[in-house]
Amino acid sequence: MDTDDERPTRARQTLVESLRERGHIYTTRVAKAMAAVPRHEFVPDAVRDHAYADEPLDIGHGQVVTAPHLVAQMTELLELRPGQTVLEVGTGSGYHAAVLAEMVGPENVFTIERIPELADAARAALERTGYGDVTVVVADGSGGLPDHAPFDRINVTSVAPDVPGPLVDQLADDGRMVIPLGPRGGSHELVLLTKQDGRIERTNYGGVRFVPLVGAYGFAEEE
Ligand code: SAM
Repeated sequence: MDTDDERPTRARQTLVESLRERGHIYTTRVAKAMAAVPRHEFVPDAVRDHAYADEPLDIGHGQVVTAPHLVAQMTELLELRPGQTVLEVGTGSGYHAAVLAEMVGPENVFTIERIPELADAARAALERTGYGDVTVVVADGSGGLPDHAPFDRINVTSVAPDVPGPLVDQLADDGRMVIPLGPRGGSHELVLLTKQDGRIERTNYGGVRFVPLVGAYGFAEEE
């Protein structure tokens, strides 16, 4: 029988196997990263029992941690390699930032969150789980992080009405950006942008649903 300490590890392995079987994970690197990061450490106690179900979970302030199959899909599309610099817009719980950190090294990950309380909780969880070198910034991430640009990879975890111009400018050549696009509410498209010789190519990866990117290059704050 599993002990209390082993149970999350076992549940995490089962989740990763299921994501592989369903085709959401198709590289060993992403499988290893998602098998390594303890999602239960990033979510509030109230939802901890569901940490290894393939569903988004409430993290407070009207926000959620993204469902694991979407974390897998976005991470696969980014084609991450050790040493690349990554910008994440929308830290939320810090879970996806930890997965990115597993793949490129924590010191290469910059993540921006507009809600200070979520950024504080994410910072604490990242510290506790060994990813304390991830840089968590409280700001409107729709304008990116010009002081640390360019980024090899950009992961946007909330839906934008259009691709924010500053994020395109801050993407390095040969860079890849994953971003959900669409109207507030309704259904959204997961989009991969690649940059080569300054030119942007766009590929759609189907219907998804995300919370809005609220900011200067996103949606207005709701009244
Ligand atoms: N990656 C997260 C995780 O692993 O928990 C999930 C992110 S959640 C789906 C989207 C996050 O984007 C929310 O925490 C929200 O507050 C944040 N957000 C929305 N607009 C933002 C903006 N302009 N700048 C930074 N963060 C923003």
